[in-house]
Amino acid sequence: MKVAENQALDQLNTFGISARAGMVITIETEEDLLSAPGLDPARDLLLGGGSNVLFVTDVPGIVYLNRIRGIEIIGEDREGILLEVGAGENWHELVTWSVARGFSGIENLALIPGLAGAAPMQNIGAYGVELASVLDSVTAWDWHTANWVVLSRQQCLLGYRDSVFKAAPPDRYLITSIRLILKKHFTAQVAYSGLAAELEKSSTGSTGLADVYAAVIRLRRQKLPDPAVIGNAGSFFKNPLLPTALYQQLHDRFPALPSWDAGDPGTKVSAAWLIEHCDLKGFEKNGAAVSSQHALVLVNQGHCSGLDIWELAQLVQARVWDTFGVRLEPEPRIFRHADVS
Ligand code: FAD
Ligand code: NAP
Repeated sequence: MKVAENQALDQLNTFGISARAGMVITIETEEDLLSAPGLDPARDLLLGGGSNVLFVTDVPGIVYLNRIRGIEIIGEDREGILLEVGAGENWHELVTWSVARGFSGIENLALIPGLAGAAPMQNIGAYGVELASVLDSVTAWDWHTANWVVLSRQQCLLGYRDSVFKAAPPDRYLITSIRLILKKHFTAQVAYSGLAAELEKSSTGSTGLADVYAAVIRLRRQKLPDPAVIGNAGSFFKNPLLPTALYQQLHDRFPALPSWDAGDPGTKVSAAWLIEHCDLKGFEKNGAAVSSQHALVLVNQGHCSGLDIWELAQLVQARVWDTFGVRLEPEPRIFRHADVS
């Protein structure tokens, strides 16, 4: 366990926001947790790679960095493998590791920034695949009972960018490892139209495991602002899931609004379209901007504060509400401490 007081968080969030933590504690083994001081959700925060978090204020207490490593095959049969992954493993490197060995199931999730331990938090998803389709279980430290818990996939209550970990009191569970079931026999998951089109464009036209992995990486590099170039946390808003009646009303008024049947919760509509049709794509205030490349992404154009990004987010929410009567919900974790300016 490493302990450092009064630390800058600038390099620990992909927005590149300047913020400080009273203390940063790096957890490197499960045993470290037995001697950790505990977690006060009002003052402290768990952090992985910082790619889905916005610091509106400093963190007055402790930032716990989870850096427990390790990738191990703990079960195997003719169909597939059961993989145990330390929460501190880099997610994209894990995808690369599995593709290189011919294990499939997570190739559509290539190049998602961040660490494996945060993946269940919002049931990461891209190109028609979600973590839910491969997750077996999650092992976590429960700060409330000061004990370990193992949650099955069902107990994780995974939904669209959602899970029990988001619903639980903030940071109740510190995820230390995840177990994934990966397949030995590959079936391409290419129902997502953009991915199918990208595969057709490639010179070979083949849809093997490595082809899908490479196509996802190409698409992401073309379409998404790179946090190494301009600070961002990916999609700032979730695509709203609307009940049927509300969706029908909206569709009657705006037939061009892109939508997808989301089964039980209703119809998913494109948040990016709603934002673009409020004329906000490229809108900038105090160095915080709606990306001109991708309307769902808010960017730090240089040295804006977390509060500047948060005020822009609220402006976007208000404009979409006034124009369409739809509430946009932020996707990243917003850290705000009441007593810190
Ligand atoms: P952090 O940002 O560090 O933390 C996110 C949340 O998880 C926080 O609430 C934190 O407290 C909690 N947390 C972190 N680690 C743990 C742990 N070990 N135990 C308990 N809680 C923990 N997301 C998608 O779903 N799909 C995408 O395609 C996608 N693309 C992105 C593209 C870009 C360019 C960027 C910047 C982000 C993108 N994201 C995407 C969002 C983000 O990368 C994912 O949500 C990722 O899983 C966050 O991982 P992290 O380690 O950076 O988490
Ligand atoms: P895109 O392909 O241009 O599509 C835009 C939006 O339309 C996406 O948000 C996606 O919803 C939705 N969509 C498109 N086709 C769909 C289909 N067949 N079924 C259901 N929904 C569909 O998206 P993009 O912005 O370039 O991103 C590509 C993928 O990476 C998407 O899956 C996106 O979620 C993911 N991504 C996520 C983040 C993040 O931070 N969460 C950031 C970048 C990219 P979904 O979002 O539900 O897929």
